[in-house]
Amino acid sequence: MVTESLTRPTTVGALACQRNSFLFNGFKTTVISCEPVKGKPKDPVKYLVELHDTILFPEGGGQPSDSGYLKCSNDRIPVSYVSRVGLHAKHHVGQYIDPGTTVEVEVDQSKRVDYMQQHTGQHLLSAILESEPYKLDTLSWSMGGVISAKKPTLEINDYFNYIELPRKLTSQEIEQVSHKVNELISINPQQISVIERTPEAHGDVQTSKIPDDYDLEKGVLRTIHIGEIDSNPCCGTHLQRTNQIGSILISPNQTNIRGSNSRLYFMCGNRVVNYGMAVNKLVGTAKSSLSCLESEIPEKIDRQRDLIQKSSKREQFWIKELASYESDRLLAKVKEAGKAFLLKDEYGTLEFLLQVFKEFTNKLGKTPNEYQLVLCGREKSTESGSVLIVSESGEKISTIAASLSGVVPTLKGGGGKKGGKWQGKIVKFTENDWKSVKNYLETEF
Ligand SMILES: [Zn+2]
Repeated sequence: MVTESLTRPTTVGALACQRNSFLFNGFKTTVISCEPVKGKPKDPVKYLVELHDTILFPEGGGQPSDSGYLKCSNDRIPVSYVSRVGLHAKHHVGQYIDPGTTVEVEVDQSKRVDYMQQHTGQHLLSAILESEPYKLDTLSWSMGGVISAKKPTLEINDYFNYIELPRKLTSQEIEQVSHKVNELISINPQQISVIERTPEAHGDVQTSKIPDDYDLEKGVLRTIHIGEIDSNPCCGTHLQRTNQIGSILISPNQTNIRGSNSRLYFMCGNRVVNYGMAVNKLVGTAKSSLSCLESEIPEKIDRQRDLIQKSSKREQFWIKELASYESDRLLAKVKEAGKAFLLKDEYGTLEFLLQVFKEFTNKLGKTPNEYQLVLCGREKSTESGSVLIVSESGEKISTIAASLSGVVPTLKGGGGKKGGKWQGKIVKFTENDWKSVKNYLETEF
């Protein structure tokens, strides 16, 4: 039998997870209601369950929802999400549970600890930035990557959270702030406490950031206190002492937003270790491909960039030299026979063909009146190719293009309807195609 007091749910603001954020499992409570919802085809959520009380935090105040399980008899029912509807917490589950059933709630602990480290770390960082000598308000904050069923592991770029500040910090300020927050974690850790305030005890607490759909007169106003350093209204789950944050890493790379505002990126807790390991792996890969020490990587990359620029210039030089030579040969052939072709394998790039075309047309002048030229190249590394058909006559161009398309069906291109240049591409230029084109050009030209 369900007693009267158990039919009334605990108000969001005074939930067990908010009163003691270190309850991760073994929490027994009763199902008050289980309402069906219209699920989407791929979404297993079919019911919204309200419990008498819960250790699963409903999304709010910049902290994502917990996930976890409701255990009853032999079932361990996954809770994918907990939403807040006014003063109520609704657990999203895939199966029906009878109201009155006793369930044991379990929290996805590693995820929650991660959230608490990021969230409490943000409070500490914002508190330092709000104090002297910076006096910078945190205008908003965003938790970086959030683990979900769709995305079970974080990418290296997802580790960072950010806060928006009214201006950019200097690199000295970042160094100084980083030193201050980490000192309050390791050398001088602070107690974190939460005060629940009834409407009579709201005092002069700023309530402008409390969501409009949260009825403060019926709910609970919570303020979070970090030692004597900070006090702020917040509904989220927090660590008990700042040393549980582990450490805070602040990135020197800020981004501009809304004019002169700045996003300051940071991460806390286990993320710092995981990030260190992921970065170490990247550095290891860079070290072995550049055959150098960590400290030599930037210099090595500079040198490589330099080498690429030099060889690219050298390549340009030889392309021009060879294109000039080839265009002379083609022009002589055109003057003699009215037609000519060029086939270039291995590095027969479009860039080279266009350079030959440019040199050829520059030298062509007004004579001869009639000419047909085909330039065809293949790049072995990509197995792709390019074709240019050049003539004074659009008709001749379209006849040659049709013949070549008959030989290589994957040839696609266009242009030169009134004479000039037709340009085409062969996405997959096989050995057989190459032989066919060669055979066609040697026979017809
Ligand atoms: Zn908070």
